[in-house]
Amino acid sequence: MQERRWLLEGVERPDADALDVYRRNGGYGGAWRAFDEIDARAVIDEVEKAGLRGAGGGWRHVGTRWRQAAGQDVRALVVDVTESEAGRFRDRKLAERLPHRLIEGALIAAHALAADEVYLCIRADWRRARSVLGHALAEAEAAGWIGRPLGRSGHAVKFQVHPVPGPLPARGGDHLLPNLIECSRPEPRAADGVDALPTLFGASVFVHCAATLGYLPSILSRGADAFRALGGKDFPGTVAVSVSGHVRRPGLFEIEIGSGSFGDVIDDLAGGTVADGESLAIFCDGAPALRGEAIWSAPVDPAAWSHPGGGPQMGSFGSGTIVVADESVAPIELAANWLRDAAELGCGQCPGCREGSAWLAKQLQRLREGGVAGVDLPAFEARLQELATSEADGLSICGHPTVAALITQGLLQIAPEDLSQQAKPGVEPCTNDGPLRTADSIHLRF
Ligand code: SF4
Repeated sequence: MQERRWLLEGVERPDADALDVYRRNGGYGGAWRAFDEIDARAVIDEVEKAGLRGAGGGWRHVGTRWRQAAGQDVRALVVDVTESEAGRFRDRKLAERLPHRLIEGALIAAHALAADEVYLCIRADWRRARSVLGHALAEAEAAGWIGRPLGRSGHAVKFQVHPVPGPLPARGGDHLLPNLIECSRPEPRAADGVDALPTLFGASVFVHCAATLGYLPSILSRGADAFRALGGKDFPGTVAVSVSGHVRRPGLFEIEIGSGSFGDVIDDLAGGTVADGESLAIFCDGAPALRGEAIWSAPVDPAAWSHPGGGPQMGSFGSGTIVVADESVAPIELAANWLRDAAELGCGQCPGCREGSAWLAKQLQRLREGGVAGVDLPAFEARLQELATSEADGLSICGHPTVAALITQGLLQIAPEDLSQQAKPGVEPCTNDGPLRTADSIHLRF
C-alpha cells in the first residue's frame, strides 16, 4: 500500500507551514482560480463534480450541500478544529503543519457560499496549533489574501480565531460552535431539521471540519476529474487516517479510498504491531470495529461499511481514525473507559443522553470489573437500541448518545464472549490496562 497525498500534499517539506514555501509549491493557486478565473457557482460545480464528501465522519456531499444553501444568505463559515474522538489528530496536525492549506480552503469555501467571515474554532489547549495558525493568518493578511477584495470577484473575507474549550461532544459541533462563538451556554442548540443550517447572531452559517476544507485547494488547482479518478464511484478521493495504539510507527497517513485493508495500513504504513498476537482489535473513531482475521480483509473504504455507505461490514467507518489494541488491552476495558468519557461530555439537556449514556457506562464498568450479579444483558441491549435511534426519534438534540451506542454495539459485535464471560458471577476484573500512546505523545514523521 502506498500513500496518495491530496490533503497532506507537501506536508513533508521543511518549513511546510511557511507562506513562502507554500506559495513556491503552488499554494493559493486554487483560491486565485476561484476568485479570479471562475465564479462562485462554478466553484460549487467543480466541488460537486469531484464528489468531495465531508471528512468529519458524516460523509455528506459537500457540493450538494453548498448548492442547497446557495439561496439562504450564508453570512459566515465556521471551521471546526476541535476533534474530540479518541485517537483522532488529523485536523490538529493539519493546522500545525499546513495552516495555509486550511486558510486557502476556507477562503474557497467562503467564496462559494458568498460568506464574508470565517470563524476558526480551535481547541484552547492546543497551544502549538493555535500559535502556528495565528502566525499563518498574519502572513496571509500581510500578503493580501485576507480582508481585501480578491481577483475579479472583488470578494473580501475576514478571519477570526476563536479558542474553544475541549473536548466537546463529538456530534455536537454544528450547533455547539456557534453558541460558543456567541459566548452563550456551551450546549448544542436544537435545529429546525436535519439539513437546517446553524445560526450565528441570527444569520445562517456553514460549519466544516478542517480536513474537508483542506481538500479544496488541490481540487481547484488539479481539477475535479483527477480527484474523482481516485477511490470508488460513491466515495471518491483519499482518506487521511490517524493511526495510534500498539503499532511501531503511529502517524497520519493518506491513502486512496478502498486501496487496501486495515491490516495493510498497519503493516505497510504504521510499521506493524508492537507485539504479535491473535486478539488484535481495531477501534474506529473510538468505537470497537474489528477484531482478529477481519482486520486483514476489511477495506479502508466507507462504502464497505453499514454506516455511512450501507455496505456489508457492520458498524461505522467514522472519519478514518484507527486505534490498534493488542492483547495487552481487552476491548471491554478500552470501551468502558471511552464510554465513561463520552457520557461525561454530554451537556445534560436531553434525558436520553444524560441518563441513558451514564447508565450504559455504569453497566459496562460493572461488567469490566466482573464478578457482579444483576447485569441484565437483554436490558442492556434494549437500552442500547434506544440510544442508537435517539436522534432519529427526536429524543436527543445533537445525536451525542449515538457515540455511546456505537461503542457498545461495536463491543457486542467484536467481543460478545468477553461480555458474557464478564457477566458470570465470580469472574476476576479486567485489570491488564496496558499503556496506549495517545495523540499528544505521538511525534509524527512525514
Ligand atoms: S444529546 Fe447530549 S450532548 Fe447533545 S444536546 Fe442533548 S444532552 Fe447535550
